[in-house]
Amino acid sequence: MASEPNALPPETTANDSAEPETALETARRQLARAATHLEIDPNVVERLESPAKVHEVSVPIERDDGSVATFTGYRAQHDSVRGPYKGGLRYHPDVTRDECVGLAMWMTWKCAVMDIPFGGAKGGIVVDPKALSEDEKERLTRRFTQEIRDVIGPTTDIPAPDMGTDPQTMAWLMDAYSMQAGETIPGVVTGKPPIVGGSEGREEAPGRSVAIIAREACEYRGLGLEDATVAVQGFGSVGANAARLLEEWGATIVAISDVNGAIYDSNGLDVASIPSHDEEPEAVTRVAEERDLETIANEALLELDVDVLVPAAVGNVITEDNAKAIAADIVVEGANGPTTFAADTILDERGIDVIPDILANAGGVTVSYFEWLQDINRRAWSLEQVNAELESEMIDAWNDVRTEVEDRDISWRDAAYVVALKRVAAAHEARGLWP
Ligand code: NAD
Repeated sequence: MASEPNALPPETTANDSAEPETALETARRQLARAATHLEIDPNVVERLESPAKVHEVSVPIERDDGSVATFTGYRAQHDSVRGPYKGGLRYHPDVTRDECVGLAMWMTWKCAVMDIPFGGAKGGIVVDPKALSEDEKERLTRRFTQEIRDVIGPTTDIPAPDMGTDPQTMAWLMDAYSMQAGETIPGVVTGKPPIVGGSEGREEAPGRSVAIIAREACEYRGLGLEDATVAVQGFGSVGANAARLLEEWGATIVAISDVNGAIYDSNGLDVASIPSHDEEPEAVTRVAEERDLETIANEALLELDVDVLVPAAVGNVITEDNAKAIAADIVVEGANGPTTFAADTILDERGIDVIPDILANAGGVTVSYFEWLQDINRRAWSLEQVNAELESEMIDAWNDVRTEVEDRDISWRDAAYVVALKRVAAAHEARGLWP
């Protein structure tokens, strides 16, 4: 049933400059904004404002000293109209129910913009993983798996790593789930080590998708990568992989950073020779001293006059305070949520293209989907096949979003949300409301 484009709720206007405070508030605003561009049933939009389910569990574990500690865990499941729920598990002291819901909504859009047959979920445990021993972390993961085992599964909800969790955590989860089921079920989780059904290329995938999208965005503005200058904030999994690929493809990486600061060379840095966060934490600033390179603050990196800026460290780094000083022509979001709602409006007004996280770093969930396919079919793909399929999926998604940018004359973020919301809403309309 088609209807008129949706009006925004009275408390929300499309260029409302007040910053939303939580991930959930931001996600709801983005949904409302995307809905204004589309003629979809307002009842479907209303259903998408809230998660389908949120599970809250207590997770007791025995500490190494024999005492018992109890932690709170969540699994928020936003929407599964296009397929099983999919999303990361976060171990962090700041995990909240609302954060899980907001991040689950983002996963719905991320999977939909990539046209992957998954819905959105997110979960986590309120815990500082650095305060736990390896054995405690294993017991926590196994008990959490048991507490949520009825609501996860290869055809229902498939977790993945996020902040504070890693391939080892996913291997424990898969093992705990499989032991109770009496059979090995690798498809219950993605981001596992390849030896137990993980995919080649999974770790590198978000950085690779950022590089692919940066290349396409440059080309779209008539700029070849060999003429492009790039600054990358954060030299971790996403930032280092993106920077190294872009350098390999001919771009000049003039600045990179870690949490302690940034290094800058207008002639280009040899990023392949600098260890990433995984290889050696905070090596960027150490290398700067060793090689006598010019150092600048992380804030100054964001304001460099470059062709492409890739914020790939943490969220909320481009805000209404510095948006007017951003001098890049293109921002490709490597981190989740690096640009605040208000900053986004300012950058848009200034003609800076912001390619949103739900498209740019979606290589991670895309290769998770490939991992799931490999697990279900019990057949591993080569790295070459993974990378070729990822390239093809990214280009398809880029072209879908570009078409909306051109047809509707809207920002890249709005276009990505329009592509996603259209797909999710069409699936809801086709399936109808049961009973
Ligand atoms: P990481 O831990 O591997 O690396 C983070 C890097 O950012 C490190 O170099 C660290 O020193 C630096 N950093 C940390 N805090 C900083 C700060 N306040 N200012 C500047 N630099 C800072 O992390 P990652 O896996 O590369 O993730 C980075 C971002 O990308 C996060 O927002 C994450 O949610 C997002 N992301 C990650 C993946 C993934 O699969 N790894 C997928 C999609 C999105």
